[in-house]
Amino acid sequence: MKKKIYIIQPTYRKMDGKKVKGWNQFNHSYNVSIVSGAVPADWEKVTCIEYFEEIDFNSDAEIVLLLCMGYDILYAKEIADKFLNRGKTVIFGSHMDQFSEKLLSGSCDCVFHGTPGLIEMQNMLNDALKGELKNEYEFGMDLNFPFDYSALKGIRMPFIQTFMGMGCRNNCDYCCTAGVYKGNYRMRKVDIVTADLIAISKMNRTVAFNDSNIYNNALYLRRLCREIIRKRIGIKWGGQATIDIGNDDETLALLYESGCRILYIGFESLSGKNLRSISKKYNPEKYAEQVNNIMRHGIRVAGYFMFGFDEDTNETFDRTWKFINEARITLPLLNVLLPVPGTEVYTRLKKENRLLFPDETEFGNTKPLYSVPCHKCYFKPKNISVSCLEIGYLNLYRRVTRIPAIIRRSVSSSPSDSVRFFIMNFALRKEYRKMMSEIKGS
Ligand code: SF4
Repeated sequence: MKKKIYIIQPTYRKMDGKKVKGWNQFNHSYNVSIVSGAVPADWEKVTCIEYFEEIDFNSDAEIVLLLCMGYDILYAKEIADKFLNRGKTVIFGSHMDQFSEKLLSGSCDCVFHGTPGLIEMQNMLNDALKGELKNEYEFGMDLNFPFDYSALKGIRMPFIQTFMGMGCRNNCDYCCTAGVYKGNYRMRKVDIVTADLIAISKMNRTVAFNDSNIYNNALYLRRLCREIIRKRIGIKWGGQATIDIGNDDETLALLYESGCRILYIGFESLSGKNLRSISKKYNPEKYAEQVNNIMRHGIRVAGYFMFGFDEDTNETFDRTWKFINEARITLPLLNVLLPVPGTEVYTRLKKENRLLFPDETEFGNTKPLYSVPCHKCYFKPKNISVSCLEIGYLNLYRRVTRIPAIIRRSVSSSPSDSVRFFIMNFALRKEYRKMMSEIKGS
C-alpha cells in the first residue's frame, strides 16, 4: 500500500439540510492540524477542511482519515461510504466517542478514540499498511508534538485554534469533556506550545486556545505566559477558563501581558442549587466580583449560560439578562441544556424517565440531533414547561443580540478590540436570525 493519507475535516448540515461553509466562530478546524502533526514524516499527506474547500473523492491516497466532531456524524458517514465504495481504507476519529461506535459499523475500517500521539499514529498506520487494522484504537491525550498548521495556509480566518492541553480537572455532570476525561487533564510541554505559537503567528496574530479549561494548572499557565512574553511572540489570544481565575491576580496580570484579551467562562447558572446539582463547584454569589476583577486586568469575559436545570423557572431569563448587563459580559453564549449520552445528566434524566428521546440509539438515529438547534429542549424540565423554556430562551437570545446591546458590550478602550468584539457579537445576531428563520420555515 502506498504511504499516502488524506485527512478530512467534514463540515456538517444545518436543520435545513444545507452544508455549513466558510468561517464561523463555532467551527472547529484544529483537528486537522493535530492529526496531521502526528503523521510520520515518510508519509505523503493531503488535507481538506470542508468548511473552506471541496473533498476530492478521486484522491489517490489509500487511507482516508475522517475527523468528525459529532455535529453531524451521519453526514460524515455518507462521505466514508463513498470512499469505501472506491476501495479506500477509512479511519474515523476525533468524534463524540460515546455514541458513535454502533452508528459507524460498516462505514469504516476502524475507529479511534482520543487523540493519537506520534507513536500511536505510526503504529496505527503500520497496521493499515499490513492490512491488520483493529476495529478500534484507544488513544490517550499525549499532544506533546508540534501541530501542523500548513492545512490552514491560504484560508482567511479571524483566528487560529490550538491547545495547551486536554481534559479538565473538574467533573461537571452535563459536560462532554468530563464524560470523556473524568476529571483528568494533561498539559503539553511549554516549549512545544510556544513553538506552535511562533508558527501560528507567522500566519495570524490572533489565537484561540480551544482547551476545555486553560486554568487546569495555574503554575503551568503562568510559565507559558512568561515564555510568550520572553519570546516576544506578539499574539492576542483568548481561551476558556473556570471562574476561579477571577481570584488570581498574579495569573491575570501575566495573561494580559502575554496578549490574552478574552476569557470564555462557563457560568451555566446563577442558582447555587442548580450548580450543586450538576457537580459544578463554583459560587454564583461571587460571579460579579470575579468578572469585575478579570476586567480590571484588561481582559473581557464571554459567558456560557445554560437553561433547563431543575431550579430554572420563567424568572431565570430576566435574572440572567440582568446579570449579563450588570456584570458587563462581552459575549453571552446561551444554550438549552442538552443531555448528551455519556454524561451524568443524561444518565440521571434517563433514570427519572425525563428524556424526550427514548434511548441512545434514537439519539444517534435522529439526524437533527447531530446538528441540534440550541433552543430545542429534549427532556422534561422540572419547574418550567418545555415550550416556556424554549420561548424564554429565544426571547433572551433576541434581547442580547439587539444592536444597541451589542454596541454597549463591544465598546473597549482599544478600537481594534472593539471591532473584534463587535464582529463576535454580530455573529451571534446572525446565528439568532438564522435560527428564527429555520423555526419559521419548519
Ligand atoms: S469546568 Fe467546564 S470543561 Fe471542566 S468539567 Fe466543568 S463544564 Fe467541563
